[in-house]
Amino acid sequence: MAKNGLLIDYDYCTGCHTCEVACQQEHDYPPGKLGITVTEYILETLGEKPSIYYLPFPTDLCDLCARRTNEGQKPACVKHCQAACMKYGPIEDLVKEMENQPKMVLYSPF
Ligand code: SF4
Ligand code: SF4
Repeated sequence: MAKNGLLIDYDYCTGCHTCEVACQQEHDYPPGKLGITVTEYILETLGEKPSIYYLPFPTDLCDLCARRTNEGQKPACVKHCQAACMKYGPIEDLVKEMENQPKMVLYSPF
């Protein structure tokens, strides 16, 4: 059976933290317990304006929303990301997408 994962196109992440909240609500996590975290990075380049990146990355608590995906639904973070910069699916399909787009990360907990 194909392994599934999350593909995160962080170049388009706006840092809105909606994925964190959606994950917390889906799993009924208390404040501070997170299945995904969004970290801000400021990259300084000599002589140029600093660039700000937001990197959403799942924690060890991420189960790829097994309850939802077993019912054919998207993971909560994917469904609620307004920038549509997260995808869920078979890893081999997600790897193919990475070939055409820079600044992506692929995650699988299994
Ligand atoms: S896939 Fe589900 S468990 Fe994993 S980070 Fe997204 S919302 Fe949380
Ligand atoms: S919901 Fe989407 S845009 Fe917002 S922080 Fe998460 S990955 Fe980035």
